[in-house]
Amino acid sequence: MQFDPKAILKESLSLAAFLPLCLILCGCGKSAVEKAFESDSNGFFCKACRTKFYTGAGIFADHCPQCRSANIQEVVGFVCPKDQHTTLAPRGQGAMACEQCGAITTALRLPHETDFQKWGATRKTKADVSAQP
Ligand SMILES: [Zn+2]
Ligand SMILES: [Zn+2]
Repeated sequence: MQFDPKAILKESLSLAAFLPLCLILCGCGKSAVEKAFESDSNGFFCKACRTKFYTGAGIFADHCPQCRSANIQEVVGFVCPKDQHTTLAPRGQGAMACEQCGAITTALRLPHETDFQKWGATRKTKADVSAQP
């Protein structure tokens, strides 16, 4: 067995260089994922009266502002791989046909306020949709 302090030093130096790089890469990947699942608003679809509505960030609807039904579904966006168009649909389905070109898409992202407005949803306040005071 031969002990070579130079080789050990070299190894620990490359490790020291590698670690921050890994941290940077991991940090970037995480923020990209967080960005896709972060939104300024939450969209909902009422299955009872087919009302489309959305609320501000952090406000979750308990019932429909129109008919007061609790049978509402959270709305997510499906991003088309061909034209990047976002098709909004109630959460719970694995795939969705792009409303623009018809391609099947499975890539999910959380829609933003502008997406909900284009979709035809109206903004509601906490008082409109929440059972809590
Ligand atoms: Zn309703
Ligand atoms: Zn498309």
